[in-house]
Amino acid sequence: MQKQQLLYKGKAKSVYETDDNDFLILHFRDDTSAFNGERVEQLARKGEINNRFNAFIMQKLTDAGIETHFEKQLSTDEVLVKRLEMIPVECVVRNFAAGSLVRRLGLEEGQALTPPTYELFHKDDALGDPMVNESLSISLDWATKEQLSQMQELTYQVNDVLSEIFDAGDLMLVDFKLEFGVFHDRIVLGDEFSPDGCRIWDKKTKKKLDKDRFRQSLGDVVEGYEEVAKRIGVPLD
Ligand code: ADP
Ligand code: UDP
Repeated sequence: MQKQQLLYKGKAKSVYETDDNDFLILHFRDDTSAFNGERVEQLARKGEINNRFNAFIMQKLTDAGIETHFEKQLSTDEVLVKRLEMIPVECVVRNFAAGSLVRRLGLEEGQALTPPTYELFHKDDALGDPMVNESLSISLDWATKEQLSQMQELTYQVNDVLSEIFDAGDLMLVDFKLEFGVFHDRIVLGDEFSPDGCRIWDKKTKKKLDKDRFRQSLGDVVEGYEEVAKRIGVPLD
């Protein structure tokens, strides 16, 4: 597969066309952003770690019968994926309260959410990714009711599969964000799963090991990602 022109440069990844219209190459960069791109820093090795982390997780999800865009890891920081028509809705599952939910409802950080909650956000940097719901997503033609219900079911399935994997590494999967797209009329999981898009805490100490280390200037951001990777068995070399 030949890498061709740059299609899109996002906040953390660059997207390249290939000579096959059904496939794209994603390049995981070291850029790390927070607050909708207001703060951007280069964190050495982050792109490589996220690429390896994502490949490992996507393989676990495939093994569990969940269709993802992942095709093949091409290099330390590049992956070949199916080209999806992305749905501009971010699907968030929360097992414990953190982040915007704590700010919105004044909850205590770490409060268990039983059963886990599910939220939708519109993917739009200029608007700061506002919270939306299924009704709006249908009326605004972002997705059909059937697609949205499949996305919800798949997101909960991902939560079941991954909660178990993190639990086995003495980690808590606090919350995470997924993006889906359409590939030949099927809903397929796209984008990435890495510590950039989820919250992971040590089970005993509640130490944050995800992008909150960057958002909250806690230091050792990449070291946190590596610690999680090691504990769940992601091969890092
Ligand atoms: P952002 O756009 O939020 O800054 P990234 O830097 O991660 O995010 O850029 C990657 C972009 O590629 C995102 O807009 C994401 O929706 C899109 N994308 C991810 N996977 C696919 C795919 N398989 N097909 C098409 N687009 C994809
Ligand atoms: N998230 C993300 N991209 C976004 C918004 C959220 O990956 O544009 C992830 C975030 O890392 C967390 C989960 O989705 O794991 C829930 O995020 P939240 O709504 O709490 O927002 P935040 O506090 O990060 O602004």
